[in-house]
Amino acid sequence: MQFAHAWPEQRVRFATGAAAEATAEEVRRLGATRVMAVASHPARAQPVLAGVPVVVCHTEVAMHVPVATADRARTVAAEHHADALVCVGGGSATGLAKAVALSTGLPIVAVPTTYAGSEATAVWGMTDHDGKTTGTDPDVLPRAVVYDASLTLGLPVALSVASGLNAVAHCVDAMWGPTVDPIDQTLALEGIRTLRTGLPRVVEEPTEVGGREQALLGAYLAAVAFASAGSGLHHKICHVLGGLFGLPHAQTHAVVLPHVLALNAPAVPELDRRMAHAFAADSALAGLLALDDELGAPRSLRDLGLAEDDLPRAVGPIVAAASSDNPVPVNAERVAALLHAAWEGKEPS
Ligand code: NAD
Repeated sequence: MQFAHAWPEQRVRFATGAAAEATAEEVRRLGATRVMAVASHPARAQPVLAGVPVVVCHTEVAMHVPVATADRARTVAAEHHADALVCVGGGSATGLAKAVALSTGLPIVAVPTTYAGSEATAVWGMTDHDGKTTGTDPDVLPRAVVYDASLTLGLPVALSVASGLNAVAHCVDAMWGPTVDPIDQTLALEGIRTLRTGLPRVVEEPTEVGGREQALLGAYLAAVAFASAGSGLHHKICHVLGGLFGLPHAQTHAVVLPHVLALNAPAVPELDRRMAHAFAADSALAGLLALDDELGAPRSLRDLGLAEDDLPRAVGPIVAAASSDNPVPVNAERVAALLHAAWEGKEPS
């Protein structure tokens, strides 16, 4: 056995009901005195920022980080001489903070309020009219993450489900990612177990903190595994769809994942067996579909607003982006069939 695994250089704390104290402490540890806050919902962020020396709270946050939005945020950071960033929100708020960090090197403290997991990766993404560009840079990895499940109690159930399945997708795609190692797989499998038990609790009792804590822990394990293993076919597909058509990120992941699992799993029976065990099912696909049913997950790209005529435009970029290491060779015919099945919401096969 030969592999090298790099752990993220990041402090992570779970602080249910204590985000304000934990965030203030993490900012102090950085020695920051002029913080730019990035938040999609100022009212939700305000209590978290109570002990933080905020010089400006920037609220122009948009999904998939449009380049113009990133440019304006960088200007605001410069105008206020910010020396650190605190983002409070979902992957879009974290993504905007990362875009600022990418060009300024400012350290980030992330306080996530969804299960997107961007806070645990060094991956940034930005979108313009040609689609989404992503890259990896150690400067964008938040120096500290504060998870407070009480901040997620108001995340609507449908969004919690989609976002939780985005985290499950990190686990599944990590299993065959281009730079996967056995530590990533161990984290991903534990992520599946934690999410498989936590997400149904969130649906049953959305205002109870226990399921939310499990979902955040699962989301973190998933993102660490994914960050190290690299982006597999599933993420390539979702990035192309999100960038070209502006589809909602988490819901797109939820719809596409069973189709990618159906394509890849038969080619990697040992990984399928291990994922099946984590899902407590006979196969990984059966386990995922059962979880989808239990959670009432979205099933079709059509329902997300994508037009059938748009599908062919996505095929070329997906084939071009797919790794040659994918368990089954990726070609235009397979991608077109997969996209069509996901668009229709057909049972994956
Ligand atoms: P989001 O951040 O856009 O949030 C979705 C919606 O939920 C928004 O309207 C937001 O205001 C609302 N919301 C967030 N937290 C809430 C709460 N606690 N209560 C009520 N409403 C709340 O969506 P997302 O799915 O979290 O993130 C998607 C973005 O993150 C995409 O741009 C995606 O590319 C990026 N992402 C990046 C990585 C990475 O590693 N770089 C990983 C995952 C996602």
